[in-house]
This record gives sequence, C-alpha cells and structure tokens, in this order.
Amino acid sequence: MVSRVIPVETFDLVIFGGTGDLARRKILPGLFRRFCSGQMPKEARIIGAARSEMDDAGFRELVRDAIHEFDSKRPDDCPELNGFLECLAYVAVDAKGDGGWNELSALMREGTVRAFYLSVAPSLFGDIAERLHTRGLALRDSRIVVEKPFGRDLASARALNETLALHFHEDQIYRIDHYLGKETVQNLMAVRFGNMLFEPLWNSQYIDHIQITVAETVGVGGRGAYYDKSGAMRDMVQNHLMQLLCLIAMEPPSRFEPDSVRDEKLKVIRALEPVDYHHIVRGQYDKTDTQPGYREHAENPRSHTESYIAMKCHISNWRWAGTPFYMRTGKRLRARASEIAIVFKDTPHSIFDEDAGRHRNTLVIHLQPKEGMELGVTIKEPGPGGMRLIDVPLDMTFQEALGPDVEDVPDAYERLIMDVIRGNQTLFMRGDEVEAAWAWTDPIIEGWEARKEVPKLYDSGSSGPEDALMLMHRDGRKWREIK
Ligand code: NAP
Repeated sequence: MVSRVIPVETFDLVIFGGTGDLARRKILPGLFRRFCSGQMPKEARIIGAARSEMDDAGFRELVRDAIHEFDSKRPDDCPELNGFLECLAYVAVDAKGDGGWNELSALMREGTVRAFYLSVAPSLFGDIAERLHTRGLALRDSRIVVEKPFGRDLASARALNETLALHFHEDQIYRIDHYLGKETVQNLMAVRFGNMLFEPLWNSQYIDHIQITVAETVGVGGRGAYYDKSGAMRDMVQNHLMQLLCLIAMEPPSRFEPDSVRDEKLKVIRALEPVDYHHIVRGQYDKTDTQPGYREHAENPRSHTESYIAMKCHISNWRWAGTPFYMRTGKRLRARASEIAIVFKDTPHSIFDEDAGRHRNTLVIHLQPKEGMELGVTIKEPGPGGMRLIDVPLDMTFQEALGPDVEDVPDAYERLIMDVIRGNQTLFMRGDEVEAAWAWTDPIIEGWEARKEVPKLYDSGSSGPEDALMLMHRDGRKWREIK
C-alpha cells in the first residue's frame, strides 16, 4: 500500500526556540521527514530564532547533528539532507527585547504562508505574540503555534488566552497536544465514524467500562525541578488523557471539521462529573538500593507531587451514564505502553455450560510503542473436548496490516506542523476547551492541597501503587496488564 502525499503550499516557518530540545528532537527532524516524503516544498523556509548568536551555517550544522541524532530511520549520508538544510536560516532574536526583530522581519516573504512556532517557555508567549503583532510580522492569515503547558490552572490559562487574543484571532492560534497528531488517535475517529459496526454499540448499554493508560518507564530525571511544580495531573491528565477521553466519548460531529469536532469535545469535558477524591489514587516512585526515587530526582525530600495517578470518572450524559472511564498514567512503570481499552459488557445470557467460561469483547487501541488496534473475540477452543470458549485477538498492528509503507506515516509533530501550514485546526485545542479542562482539574488539585494529601509510594518497575489496583477491584474489574 503506497500512502498518498499531498504537498503543502510554500511557507515561512519561524521556530522561536529553534535551538532548544523540542526543536532538535521533534520539530526539525519531523520537518526533514516531510521534506523527504515530498510534502514540504523545496522553496519553503524554516527560520530558527533564539538568543544565541549564530549564522545560518551554524544553525544548519546544529540541525544536521540533530537529524543524525534523532532521526534513526535515515542513513547519515541521506541525499535529501543538503536540500533540506538549504531551506534553513537563523536569526538571533530576543523575545523580551528589541534585538533581531528587524532582521527577522526582513527575511519574511510577501504572499507566503507565515507560521510562528513558539517552542519556548510559556512565560515568553505573550512577549513574542506582542512583538509579532506590533512589528507587523504577523498578518491576518498568519498562524501561531503554542506548546504545552498551556497554563497551570484555569486562571493562568485564561490569562494566556487573553494575551494571545490581544494579537491573534482564535482561528490563527494552534495549541498543540501532540497526542492528537498520532495516527492511531485519528484512526479512533475513523473506526468510530467510518464503520457501522461500532457506533451502535458505543454507549453505556453495551460498554462496561473504558481504560485509558499512558505508562512510561522513564522517571522525571533531569526535568525533576520543573516536574515537581506540575505532577502527573497537570503534565498528562489535563491535556493528553482528557483529549483521548474526549475522542472516545464525543458525539459524532456533523463534519470532520475543526469547530464541529471541537464543539463535541468541549461538550464531553463539560459533562464530566466532579471526581470524588476516593476515586483518585496518587503515587510517587520509591527509591531502590541502587536508583534514586522521585523525591531525589525532584531534589525535594518533602515533595507531595504525584508521578502517578489513577482515577475513575463519569460523564453525565445519555450516552455514558453508568459507564466509568478509568484513566491512569505514571512514570517508572513496568513498561512503556499507551493504550485505550474499550471493554464491552457480558452477553445478556450464555447458552453454554458454565465450564465453557465467559468472555468479554475488548477493543484495544494501542498508541505506543506500536500503533495498532486489536479486537478480542470469543471463539470455541479448537479440538475435541466439547465447547470451551477462548479469546483470540483480531490484530491490526499497522505495520503488519499496511506493510512497510507505514514506516512513512508521519509522526505526531510532522502531521501537526503540516496541518498548521494547511490551516487545519481540527487536531488542535481551542481556547475554551483548554479552559474547560482546567475548570474540571482545578478543584481536584485544590482538594489535594487542602487535605495535604501525600502520594502513595510505589516500586519502580511495578504497575503503580496497590491502591490503584483496589480502585478497580472494588468495582469488580481489573486493569489490563501493562506490558
Ligand atoms: P529548551 O531546550 O530550554 O529551549 C528553549 C529555547 O528557547 C532555546 O532555543 C533558547 O535559546 C530559547 N530562548 C530562551 N529564552 C529566549 C528568549 N528570551 N528569546 C528567544 N529565545 C529564547 O526548551 P524545550 O525543551 O525545547 O521546550 C520548549 C517549549 O516546548 C516549552 O514550552 C516546553 O514546555 C515545551 N515542550 C517541550 C517538550 C520537550 O520534549 N522538550 C515536550 C512538550 C512541550 P537561547 O537560550 O539561545 O535563547
């Protein structure tokens, strides 16, 4: 199967923070892959902007090294690399001062799509937005891309939205949540809304519960000080996990268009019930004889910040009343695995003897490390011995189902940047969505703070605190194994 690549129109993309970690690891290698696939036109220009003094040649060298380091799929002497590097330029710009802005302005071309990617600390978003506007770099159809975290609570997110709104219209603002750019996440919408098979069953009448898991093996490592001010709730749940929940739970939008999709997601967030604190488990990974624990990584021996969270949520609407959504995410867990499991109810009546066993269908959407889907179907165990039921997976690992071309499926950042150039906001969060998500999470966080709640310790390499298992056991359910 050969994937169809539709080239985007030519563009000027300015990456503020073009020398930083995110630009080197994700944005620039991602753009290079789109260049290799033929999607990025050769006339496009990518302008790195940061305070460090450097010329174009220095920036190209930095990008060459980043691609070698972070794009393992290409050989070091890949023939397209020089062509891509030709598209690069660099300007030393201070987001908070006057330096470099005239030079940047002089580089921008008339009649070309302009996009400004703010891959810098959120404290600089306002300064950059203001200068882009007042210095006339941003035109009415220019786009501004902002990275997470988008605020740390409702008040700060609202302030950030207001600041951006002073200089940009909502249809110019692209708030990135890279989970939405994942192939499987979009496939979730294709499966739900492109098949007759699932949608009639997609409700509390047929679905027992849903599990959303984002498990990481890494700890907070070098990001300890930053992470300690955030925690799993702010870093993962408020954005990535809630976005996944929205896509599973939303009503069919009338069209696959930005506001139709985002209106439906917003309704889900607004229908989320406040969470009883008994339905939340917070954890911190413990130290071992040889490895530091969370508090050592955070350099905060009294830290109450969670590196793990599990919770049970309910959505108050006709479709979902009575079907719980269990979400969990954590660091230093047994395996790196992100998945959504839709667990269907038992058949209403079994025609088989008790010893045949009873099984439930489960649709699992794997997000990482391998993207794909799997549907657990109950069949008769082959062979003699009467009717015994077993579960077999109908497995659609993309790589196996779609062949080697799936290697060329763009990763989340590549896809999202191309969507920015195309002016398609469907996979980006709207301002009211982000605020609604904070409005739901704020009282939960405030509750922990008021109760001075201390997270439970869990072993590195485990599947999280015991209490998280109990959260499910109490309901007669269990988490899927993290593997
Ligand atoms: P980083 O490695 O610290 O890079 C920051 C960049 O900003 C550098 O290029 C820096 O270059 C530039 N910069 C700092 N102050 C500046 C100023 N006053 N004017 C102009 N440029 C300035 O940070 P990062 O990890 O790339 O993260 C960037 C953003 O992405 C943050 O909002 C972060 O939360 C978000 N994010 C990062 C990741 C990730 O994996 N790294 C993932 C998700 C979201 P100079 O020092 O030369 O100015």
